[in-house]
Amino acid sequence: MIDEIRIAIVYDNYLTISGLENDWGFAAFIEGEKIKMLFDTGGNGELLLRNMTKMKIDPKRIEKVFLSHFHGDHTGGLKSILRENPNLEAFVPKSFSKDLKQGYRYREIREFCEIMPGFYSTGEMGRAVIEQTLIINTSKGLLIITGCAHPGIVEIVKRARERLKRPIHLVLGGFHLFSSDEQKIRMIATELKKMDVEKVAPCHCSGDNARRIFKEIFGDDYYEIGVGWSVEVR
Ligand SMILES: [Zn+2]
Ligand SMILES: [Zn+2]
Repeated sequence: MIDEIRIAIVYDNYLTISGLENDWGFAAFIEGEKIKMLFDTGGNGELLLRNMTKMKIDPKRIEKVFLSHFHGDHTGGLKSILRENPNLEAFVPKSFSKDLKQGYRYREIREFCEIMPGFYSTGEMGRAVIEQTLIINTSKGLLIITGCAHPGIVEIVKRARERLKRPIHLVLGGFHLFSSDEQKIRMIATELKKMDVEKVAPCHCSGDNARRIFKEIFGDDYYEIGVGWSVEVR
């Protein structure tokens, strides 16, 4: 189990600190006692590196990259990160195309598994767009970090709960609800509450409506996040 972990948003549609840059896409820097990992890489590598520099995160120290799915707004920055650190290892869905797996060290993920001590992948999920989600097993409960949640945020949380049988401390990332109607968003927020999700931090493709409704339903347990935002869980 992980006792201390820090997550910082380095690429997102939303901005929380002026002076940084927002753009459609997502990337989060995850730092623990033993690990420095980038979750997704945003779309524009140069923008990603500019944000990281301003946030005092050294890309040369990134050891692992977790790629949720093949969409360009999550994988586009990979080349720039590789230029900074060609030796990093990536965790990629097995279904990635040959082109997307070229020029770096990677491990293919297909099923639910522990990728490093305390860090899990849901394994490949979904049909139209195949995606893996990162789960970190902390002493406070599970942290679930999604790219776009194309397989459905409820399905993803369900899998994490079923496999690890632990309370869920925080679900963070793209919930992919930007084109969903209010009624559906309310249903999903209520469903997550019912599954005892403690805190939520929807960003990227979640949409303004979802952010408003999740805020209403989760109250103080809703985090309004974007580029520049970070949290320490310990
Ligand atoms: Zn996306
Ligand atoms: Zn996507």
